Amino acid sequence: MSFLAKNYNRRKIAFKRGKGSYLYSTDGKKYLDFVQGIAVNSLGHANPNLIRAINKQSKNVWHVSNAFIIPEGEKLAKRLTQKTFADYVMFQNSGVEATEASIKIARRYFYSIGKPKKNRILCIKNSFHGRTLATIFASGSKKMTEGFGPKVDGFDHFQFGDHKSLKKAITNKTAAIMVETVLGEGGVKTIPDWCLRELRKICNKKKILLILDEVQCGVGRSGKFFAFEYSKVKPDIVPIAKGIGGGFPLGAVLMNKKVAFGMTPGTHGSTFGGNPLAMSIGNAVLDQIFKKNFLKNVQKISKYFHSELNKIKMDYPKLIKEVRGMGLLIGLQLFKDQTNFIKRLEYNKLLTIRAAENVIRILPPLNVKKSEIDIAIKIIRKVCKEFN
Ligand SMILES: *Cc1c(COP(=O)(O)O)cnc(C)c1O
Repeated sequence: MSFLAKNYNRRKIAFKRGKGSYLYSTDGKKYLDFVQGIAVNSLGHANPNLIRAINKQSKNVWHVSNAFIIPEGEKLAKRLTQKTFADYVMFQNSGVEATEASIKIARRYFYSIGKPKKNRILCIKNSFHGRTLATIFASGSKKMTEGFGPKVDGFDHFQFGDHKSLKKAITNKTAAIMVETVLGEGGVKTIPDWCLRELRKICNKKKILLILDEVQCGVGRSGKFFAFEYSKVKPDIVPIAKGIGGGFPLGAVLMNKKVAFGMTPGTHGSTFGGNPLAMSIGNAVLDQIFKKNFLKNVQKISKYFHSELNKIKMDYPKLIKEVRGMGLLIGLQLFKDQTNFIKRLEYNKLLTIRAAENVIRILPPLNVKKSEIDIAIKIIRKVCKEFN
C-alpha cells in the first residue's frame, strides 16, 4: 500500500544506489541509466566533485534569505552571464518556476515601458513548459489542462512548423514568443537553426521578446552550453533548470539588460531560490561543464551515438522511423507505440523514458563513456531484433 497520491504511473522498480551511468536496484540488479532523472543528473550519479561541494557547503551555511547577499549565487550568476548572452540571472528551484518567471519578466518589461496591454505569450501547441496553472495553459495541451479550469488567459498557440499560423497569431497584444529549442516531452523535436533565426527576425520586426525554454536541452545537453548557440541567435529570456543542479533542485532565468529593466525590487521572489547550498552545487556543476573539451566531448560522443542509432534504423526500417534530437538529448521514434519496447529495454537493463509521438527518449549523463554507449547500442539492437 502506497500513501503517495496516484498522479504518477510508476514502474515497479526502486534503487538503493547509483554510480556514474549506473543504478543499482533494491532487488540487486544493475541498470544502465539513460534517463538520469530526465536530463537532471548531468554528471551521473554520486559524482565525487558534487559530493565534495555539497559536503563542504553543508558544513558552512545551507540557507539564508534573499534579504542578504549570497556570495555563492553572485559567483554562479557571474559565470552564467560571462559564458552566455545574458546580463542578469534570477535563481529559482525548478523548471516550471523558471518558465513562469520568464513569462512574468516578459509582461513586466512591456508594463515598465508603458505598454501594459502587450501581455500575451505565443507558444507551440502541445509543447511543455511545466505544470503550474499558467504553464499548462501555455503548453496548450488538452491532456494537461483537462479538469484544471478556468483557463488561464494570456496564451496563444501555433502548430509546430506552421510558419503561416505563427505569423497570423502575432497581434499588437503579443509580448513574447516562447518555445523550447528542442521539444523534450513533445517528442524530442528540434527547431532547425534557420527557423530560430527567422523567429528572431520576426521578434525584432514586431518588437516582441524571444523566450527560449532550455530547461531540458540546455546546460550542455546539446553539445553546446545552450542548444540555440548552434544558430547564433540571441534570445531575450532563457529559463534553465534540470541539468544545472546535477540532481539538486535548481532553476534559473537568464535575461538580457533590456528586459531586466522591469524587474525592480519587490517584483519577484523565492524563499529557497538561490540559497547557498544550491548555488555551491550549481558552481560545482559548471566547474565540470566549463572545463576545456568537456562540451567538445559531448559533441563527439553524441555524434557517435547518433550514427550507431542510425545504423540500427537502417537495419530495422519498418520498426524505427527516425533518430531525433541534439547531442545527448536523443529520441528514437518508432512506427508504433513505444511502451513495450521501453519495457524490453528495461528487462535488458537499459533505462530509457517515453516522449510524445512514439518516441523513446535516451538521456545519458554528459560524461557518459563510449563503452557504456556501446552497451546501450547492443541492448537496443537486441530488442529491435525481438520486435522485428
Ligand atoms: C521539465 C521541463 C520543465 C519543467 O521543469 P520542472 O522542474 O519539472 O518544473 C519546463 N520546461 C521544459 C522544456 C522541461 O523539459
